[in-house]
Amino acid sequence: MTSKTSRILGFEHYVPKKWHSSTSVCYASACARKYFYAEGLRLVKKGPKPWFKFGEGMHYAVPILHEEEFEHEVSKLIEASEAFHKIWTQEIEDTLSDSKRNWHRALATLRNYRTYHKPGASLYTLIKPPSTGLELLEPKSPYEVPFVVDLGLSKPLVGWVDALGEHRDTKELWVIEFKTSSELGQRFGNSWEMNLQTLVYQLGVSQYLPQPVAGCMIEGILVAKVSVNCMTIPIPRSDVLLKSLIEDIKDIDESIKRWEDRALFPKRLSACNPYGHFGQHGYNCDYAPLCACEDWRHLSDLYDQEPQRNFLKESSDEPMAPVPGAGQPAATSDNARDEAKDS
Ligand code: SF4
Repeated sequence: MTSKTSRILGFEHYVPKKWHSSTSVCYASACARKYFYAEGLRLVKKGPKPWFKFGEGMHYAVPILHEEEFEHEVSKLIEASEAFHKIWTQEIEDTLSDSKRNWHRALATLRNYRTYHKPGASLYTLIKPPSTGLELLEPKSPYEVPFVVDLGLSKPLVGWVDALGEHRDTKELWVIEFKTSSELGQRFGNSWEMNLQTLVYQLGVSQYLPQPVAGCMIEGILVAKVSVNCMTIPIPRSDVLLKSLIEDIKDIDESIKRWEDRALFPKRLSACNPYGHFGQHGYNCDYAPLCACEDWRHLSDLYDQEPQRNFLKESSDEPMAPVPGAGQPAATSDNARDEAKDS
């Protein structure tokens, strides 16, 4: 008896991506079917996402709190809270706020953050970003660094980092990544050493820098009803890990081509829930309802379809810095500007 594998239903809705990002690489690495839903169809679960907006607002505000004081310390806090309000507007306060995410909690969080990050207090200083010839459409701060990198794959690797920082003591260069979180304990700290998203950021931005990047500093910002806290976690990284990352991304690139050629995106059931991997209970994959039914289109009303979003200005150059030893520069990246950062 021969087995015949059929194309995935609804493949005609799939739009191939023209670039890789940290998010697309993470999804493809976890599960081909997840890549199909999230990257090829751009399906996003319906419903309010207050955590996303609150985190976005913090990304606008906290870089300001690293800067020198104005004449009065309070001015810096006012500037940061105004930057937060650009995203967390009155309308959002009225509709999305809860006991952990509201204007009062934001101000308390920013005040605490300033205490530990004003010049002299922080483990690092934010630095003026190098010129990459790329310009973000909607920068959250002047410290963000976009990148478009040719790894010799079928498409470029694109994205941006929140900031670069110079270590207070060693003067090394580090990638800075701001993360809001409802917990800042050991589980939070353990999440970053082997973390694909921040590894991709380090790999991408380091192509534009003459000096090595020592690693990634995770700047954890607690989101809670009463407490305020923040935590700087330096994650040093070796060249060995970054070189093997290039090989891993090459493998992902080839896998995506194979899935697309066959119109087959296999489910990886061990990735549906943390229990399958670690024996720990946790959230289900957002696409679990689709995978549980015969034809995902029957439940597509549970999701919104997001448009492709530009993140670079049209005037941006697109220098494609090849990674030494990673193969010859390949295709140009005409469409690499269309990507949104993973938050
Ligand atoms: S529910 Fe499981 S199989 Fe389906 S997309 Fe998510 S991880 Fe993949």
